[in-house]
Amino acid sequence: MEKFKQLNLSEELLDAIRREGFDTPSEIQEKTIPLVLQGKDVIGSSATGSGKTLAFGAGIIDKTMPGQGIQALILTPTRELAEQVGQTISKFANRKRLRVTQVYGGVSMDPQIKAMRQADIVVGTPGRLLDHLKRRTLNLSRIKFLVLDEADRMLDMGFVRDVENIIKSCPANKQTLLFTATLSQDIAYMAKKYMKNPVHIEAGDKVDPSKLYQVYYDVTHETKLSLLAHLLKQEKNGVVMVFCNTRRNTDKLTRNLGLVGLHAESLHGGHSQNRRSSVLQAFHTRSTLILVCTDVAARGLDIKDVSHIYNYDIPKTGEEYIHRIGRTARAGKNGIAISFVSSGDHTEFRQIVRRVDSNIEKQPLPEFEKIQMPSKSSNQDSGHNITHGDRNRNESRFGQHKRFGGNFRGSRNDRDHGKRRDSRTNRDTRSMGGRRFGNRH
Ligand code: ADP
Ligand code: MG
Repeated sequence: MEKFKQLNLSEELLDAIRREGFDTPSEIQEKTIPLVLQGKDVIGSSATGSGKTLAFGAGIIDKTMPGQGIQALILTPTRELAEQVGQTISKFANRKRLRVTQVYGGVSMDPQIKAMRQADIVVGTPGRLLDHLKRRTLNLSRIKFLVLDEADRMLDMGFVRDVENIIKSCPANKQTLLFTATLSQDIAYMAKKYMKNPVHIEAGDKVDPSKLYQVYYDVTHETKLSLLAHLLKQEKNGVVMVFCNTRRNTDKLTRNLGLVGLHAESLHGGHSQNRRSSVLQAFHTRSTLILVCTDVAARGLDIKDVSHIYNYDIPKTGEEYIHRIGRTARAGKNGIAISFVSSGDHTEFRQIVRRVDSNIEKQPLPEFEKIQMPSKSSNQDSGHNITHGDRNRNESRFGQHKRFGGNFRGSRNDRDHGKRRDSRTNRDTRSMGGRRFGNRH
């Protein structure tokens, strides 16, 4: 605990940290906690799983007083993260008797309204927070800290304008903290426009190459399922995550794995909140060892000891690949990342290899049993029978409609996604040149 003690945290907080079993601060914690306590705006970037929650949480907890209105607002991209971050902060804030409230869509407003009246710290998703602002059920006049957590993801998901509106509703003399796994143009834009002389701390390597073994298989669409089933049957012990690019592929693959005797659960934004919580619970308690998921659903979730990650569908970008492999080889453990590259993936895959700048070894295809699925279209589980635009849209539409309800917001978000899709496929970038992106390079 020596290093934690040197950070000038309160006894109450140190006690909570001790009870949590933490002995030494992680690098990002050690470097950013003092800056937060000094009142600086901070951009903290470090890999998923490196302890960013406490990195921003510690200073906030120690500078927030119970019963003086909402003093800290933490924005997260998804409901799961709002829950996870809220619970973590709550644990550490317990001794100081601070009240932490989670606010996200898909559940009723009234309990949130009641809880926010008592809250000292609010953790929430941008859409629902804006709804509360519009209804004047959220008072931000006492805000001292605004946190953008998982900022890369939040902006990727098309929340730029929502986040900007929230920032503008906060008092000017607040401290802004931005935490992220990766840096991007959007983040640079937000930092420049809304942060005061931010100190940028980048901690740790994104991937420990010595601990992570990356391989790929050259495989046809039709045999992807058979190969996956074969590999999963070989690796019985580990907890694995299998990434797909669309909700439909996620569900279909989960079903098909079940048909060949491999119990898997799927996690994506189309599922109800309850269903998603119970899937996560099953994974945490190891009653499920195979989680089939989309990127957005998996982003930032603290799932421990993942031994293998499979790219059943090749991710769209190098960044996404890095996020996916960041799920394994954590906390000094070894991990394996396995990509299935089939025809049509090669260009994307080459870009990924260039972006990650590390060796991804080609594996010879093993002997495996070819599974015949009683499926209407054998092409559907590949993700390649749809265009990139559709893939982006499917992915980034994660939860937005259901979460926010209401046609107005739904259609506006759709427009946002439309823009982003165009920007990625270079089809029409004119719509990017508006106010939001005007001063980007
Ligand atoms: P990130 O936001 O960077 O992805 P989290 O804040 O979710 O990371 O933390 C990831 C995991 O690491 C959590 O299970 C958390 O309990 C654990 N953790 C965080 N800080 C420490 C620490 N100083 N010592 C040990 N474990 C820690
Ligand atoms: Mg996090």
